Amino acid sequence: MNLSQVYRSTRSSSEDTMSFEEAVMKGLASDGGLFIPSVIPKVPEATLYEKWSTLSFQELALEIMKLYIPETEIPTDDLKKLVDNSYSTFRNSEITPLVKNVTGSEENLHVLELFHGPTYAFKDVALQFVGNLFEYFLQRSNKGLPDDQRKKITVVGATSGDTGSAAIYGLRGKKDVSVFILYPTGRISPIQEEQMTTVQDNNVQTLSVKGTFDNCQDIVKAIFACESFNQKHNVGAVNSINWARILAQITYYFYSYFRATGGKKGAVKFVVPSGNFGDILAGYYAKKMGLDVERLVIATNENDILDRFLKSGLYERSSDAAATLSPAMDILISSNFERLLWYLAREYVAEGDSQKAGLTVNGWFQQLKTGGRFEVPAEVLEGARKDFDSERVSNAETTSTIKEIYEKSQNPKKYIIDPHTAVGIRATIRHLANSDNKEIHYISLSTAHPAKFADAVNEALSGKDGYSFQKDVLPEELRQLSSLPKRIKLVERPDVELVKDVIEESLKEMNI
Ligand SMILES: *Cc1c(COP(=O)(O)O)cnc(C)c1O
Repeated sequence: MNLSQVYRSTRSSSEDTMSFEEAVMKGLASDGGLFIPSVIPKVPEATLYEKWSTLSFQELALEIMKLYIPETEIPTDDLKKLVDNSYSTFRNSEITPLVKNVTGSEENLHVLELFHGPTYAFKDVALQFVGNLFEYFLQRSNKGLPDDQRKKITVVGATSGDTGSAAIYGLRGKKDVSVFILYPTGRISPIQEEQMTTVQDNNVQTLSVKGTFDNCQDIVKAIFACESFNQKHNVGAVNSINWARILAQITYYFYSYFRATGGKKGAVKFVVPSGNFGDILAGYYAKKMGLDVERLVIATNENDILDRFLKSGLYERSSDAAATLSPAMDILISSNFERLLWYLAREYVAEGDSQKAGLTVNGWFQQLKTGGRFEVPAEVLEGARKDFDSERVSNAETTSTIKEIYEKSQNPKKYIIDPHTAVGIRATIRHLANSDNKEIHYISLSTAHPAKFADAVNEALSGKDGYSFQKDVLPEELRQLSSLPKRIKLVERPDVELVKDVIEESLKEMNI
């Protein structure tokens, strides 16, 4: 058994392990923990800088995934097809291209554009793959079964606008999968609504719920908690804690590193706009696999639980999430952070013992649940700081950064960034200013296309000479969405039973 190819829970104090398929299809462990490979595979330096450094994005993805998925679970030929299919929907041949010198003066500031997938945001990199993976596993277990015995999944999720579309585009048209996304009526932007509701696939249904985002989220939680509904419809999620999402994201850390350094070993820092810690956690895996990364810089908005932790060792939930210009990062706790805590607990508290690490993490999360906070020992905090730095960026700085980049850039035309990317770039510029080492490459992750966050971008740029959202920001493909028919069902009250009824009625119509 190869220990990087079996999965354990971050809260388990037993040696029980799961297969990759179980970890992906279950999502969350039954003890409430997250699935992790207890061993992170090491890639020899020669392999990295002599072989991997010249691979295409897809080739690299395959090499990385093979280390975490045994051939007996997914044969390499199948895995290759899954990877190739997943990235065939991207508009850029490099999948995640690196753009250099966006400020006109900082040559070592690179922007990693992660938004060339179907919904123009970074979550596509993972969800295009996860959708195909779900379908692959389901088709394999359903092979030859009569229709009434086939295993089917009903994916249910809530969105405040920015992330629902990535799930829809990941699952559209997939066999034996249906997807229902709830959003608050009138409270998401027109583009976000159009992106989700104009998908015509029979297995996709958006539900516009009269209420708030919190109402939608509470309904989804209640549906997950309802045993009878679950038994009947096998309710699933594609939320940010799924291991396959982290896995798929590891690729662009390697890929962009090699593009920045010319394939050589070099000094690189990644700066990552962070919310649930899924994106940057993939960078941590890349570093532990052997990629020579100097530091991973967590960039938060005003919802700064991660920044506060890195400064104090105290992980403490605030009472309310602030509504910022970068809503995809408006979180109270960072769900994937638990995975990092497990590796830290094992190294600095548990003397390398995985079972003891599970006990430790479990203890911390019990404290979080009852008292809203926990504090880690000093060694754990020091350990975290060996790999991570953090920066908090305010709303005002977010706006001024969009402006500043627009004014300074000439690459070859004005460069316009979205507010999440702006959080990362502000953090990067701060680091650059404080750094004596001018050799370091900074790779600042750009997580969304600016067209997705029109209000924030316009707030920063309207009034600038010659600036036009329609002309400078909005891609033709998104412009056309407004003329397409919409598939929406209206839910008149934020009521669980009402939503369940609509789902059941839709499932009949879908005939899945
Ligand atoms: C989800 C998201 C993020 C945050 O990523 P995490 O993995 O939650 O840290 C940042 N920017 C955008 C645009 C996103 O959609």
